Amino acid sequence: MTIPNTAILVTGGAGYIGSHTVRLLAGLGRKVVVLDSLVFGHDRAIIDPDVELVVGDVGDQDLVRSLFKKHNFAAVVHFAAYAYVGESVTNPLKYYQNNTAEPIKLLQVMQECGCKVFVFSSTCATYGVPDKLPITEANQQNPINPYGQSKLMVEKILSDCDNAWGLRSACLRYFNASGCSPDGKIGEDHNPETHLIPRVLMAVTGEIEYLEVFGTDYDTPDGTCIRDYIHVEDLADAHIRALDHLSAGGESLRCNLGTGVGVSVKEIISAVEEITGKTVPVKYGPRRAGDPASLVADPALAKELLGWVASRKNIRDMVGPAWTWMSAPNRGRYPPNLISA
Ligand code: NAD
Ligand code: UDP
Repeated sequence: MTIPNTAILVTGGAGYIGSHTVRLLAGLGRKVVVLDSLVFGHDRAIIDPDVELVVGDVGDQDLVRSLFKKHNFAAVVHFAAYAYVGESVTNPLKYYQNNTAEPIKLLQVMQECGCKVFVFSSTCATYGVPDKLPITEANQQNPINPYGQSKLMVEKILSDCDNAWGLRSACLRYFNASGCSPDGKIGEDHNPETHLIPRVLMAVTGEIEYLEVFGTDYDTPDGTCIRDYIHVEDLADAHIRALDHLSAGGESLRCNLGTGVGVSVKEIISAVEEITGKTVPVKYGPRRAGDPASLVADPALAKELLGWVASRKNIRDMVGPAWTWMSAPNRGRYPPNLISA
């Protein structure tokens, strides 16, 4: 019996961005299988009963082969990675292993099985300190940490695989993922949490004593760093578009996913105070090593190639749902995994 190749393998689908994308895919009636080690993921983040969660590692070729045999995947969406920039500096091999070497093993199985569509979670960290703003895809890619380098290496590998065996890929360079599903059913639960918006909210709920602002002497209007915060559901939407583009025979692409709007750390704090009605306890500290002053996307290419534009550009649209998630009885945390990692 021939298995129809309509199923999609989503690695890291029990994580933050992956789970929002899986939910959108499942809502569109797509057959989805999630492969996640649950090292950082949450089994309860997979809320659609039709989605199969397989607990395992992307680099486990026997497991991945068996999944291909069972489902004959039409495409792979690859979120699985480690994403702590600071840790990547102190433990680079962990990042090159998980973020570069493991995907190579996955790609080997894809080649064996004839699967030629790959959507990849890349990052604005591949640009390093931008040579000009806003950042277009023509900016130089000079990562300043092993995390960014580990992702850029995969971009290059994907391009070589396209030349060699016709793998078509979409490298989606996300800026700062934020917010969550407005119904509060799934959200951002990283442990440890290092991202700004959840940490500001954690300072409001008392989970941390105060928010430390990393640097107030940047060459920006208020002295704090500027980032481009993109809603996680807009990111999810871009993945569907990238999948559809490649599945229809479209060429490989690389594009930024951001709003094009820069928001400073102080502006985030003000937005949180406005939405929660509470004062954020703040301490002003030194710069965090490796933080560029401003990272803002030019998202024009994603519009041109995928017809994608961010539907939410106001920072309150990211902070509002994040606050709903963080102020619910679960306080922004999933219950412990039922399945062990
Ligand atoms: P996350 O940690 O919430 O999700 C990653 C998931 O991958 C986790 O569930 C983890 O258990 C799983 N995983 C890790 N290594 C694995 C492996 N070898 N095999 C199987 N599963 C594995 O991270 P996220 O914030 O959702 O980010 C998703 C992707 O997007 C990552 O590749 C990250 O580098 C990239 N990215 C994130 C952001 C952001 O702002 N969050 C920005 C740019 C790029
Ligand atoms: N930031 C901060 N305090 C924190 C966490 C982050 O001042 O506790 C700043 C950080 O220096 C950066 C911005 O907030 O300028 C966004 O940081 P985040 O870690 O969320 O994302 P990154 O841009 O590093 O991927």
